[in-house]
Amino acid sequence: MSSVLALVREDLRGFAGYGSARSGSLQGEVWLNANESAWSGAGDPSGACRRYPEPQPPALTAALACVYGCAPEQLLVGRGSDEAIDLLVRALCEPGRGGVAVTPPVFGMYAVSARLQGAPLLEVPLVEDEAGFRPDLDALAEAAVEGGAKLVFLCSPGNPTGNAVPLEAMASLARRLEGRALLVVDEAYGEFSSQPSAITLLASHGNLAVLRTLSKAHALAGARIGVVVAAPELVAVLRRCQAPYPVPAPCVDAALVALSPVALDSTARQVALVRSERERVRRAMAGLSCVRRVYPSEGNFLLLRLADAGRVFQALLDAGVVVRDQRAAPQLGDALRITIGTPDQNDRVLAVLSSCCTEVNA
Ligand SMILES: *Cc1c(COP(=O)(O)O)cnc(C)c1O
Repeated sequence: MSSVLALVREDLRGFAGYGSARSGSLQGEVWLNANESAWSGAGDPSGACRRYPEPQPPALTAALACVYGCAPEQLLVGRGSDEAIDLLVRALCEPGRGGVAVTPPVFGMYAVSARLQGAPLLEVPLVEDEAGFRPDLDALAEAAVEGGAKLVFLCSPGNPTGNAVPLEAMASLARRLEGRALLVVDEAYGEFSSQPSAITLLASHGNLAVLRTLSKAHALAGARIGVVVAAPELVAVLRRCQAPYPVPAPCVDAALVALSPVALDSTARQVALVRSERERVRRAMAGLSCVRRVYPSEGNFLLLRLADAGRVFQALLDAGVVVRDQRAAPQLGDALRITIGTPDQNDRVLAVLSSCCTEVNA
């Protein structure tokens, strides 16, 4: 296995990053090295936020590693997986070069980060068949190799399409990209999927990185905690490209609570409920005359095509329900993406949908 470091920007290989007040190994009782205030302020009477936080809090890294089944050195904590995407693009693509391969319709941040870095975007559209959407992995590998891509993003389960990519297919794509590009598997919705995590492939594939987040199943979108799991040497490079104190102290505390055994149990029950609601709602939608197609989903949302998506979008809004209009996305000119809510909320969505269908028929 060739080292993944060969994929890192040559001009960053010896880059040490910022040496922060927390990155050394100094010990003491009176800390006067970071120009922090000596007193707790009114905004934080407990004093929990008076000091700069640890760049990578060991307790949080350990808890996340335990949940994701990896070693702490394989994991970098950041401000959501959005930050991880940005770090990966900046660390691997020299400004104006490199190349980022994506599979539209897909989560928009890969293209945004590529654009900000001036890296060419290589688009290999998802293919639709009777089973739903899937990436054309041969075409993706070919485009990535020919286009000199440094990064290939696969979203599994896919947002907004809901499809999961089989693990063996990811492994063979990683093999084809070895020595040429890093395969990044975004598992923001991994908890809702019946497929095992691509983290299980890391031991045999050095050019793989997996993104996970506490924003979806763990109900902490506002705390902005996400991780990249990858080879320790790549994690070390990303850390040096990251801001000095990336994770705010209150967010660390919230994350540690969310990762406690009791909280994980309750998350698991909610995930089970989302999965059963997903099936119930999908069946109900599939039976409605104005629904052209509702896709199977491994995420906590459903993608559906409608006879008149604009009208249904507006009818839902009129009923106080905000969903995601996908009509501007490639291949999805008649589609909406609807998050699975509580059973009551899902019933509300279904009621609006069926009233729209009745009107169409009348
Ligand atoms: C929601 C989402 C993210 C963003 O996760 P954060 O950790 O909140 O930044 C990443 N990828 C996909 C596909 C998403 O849908």
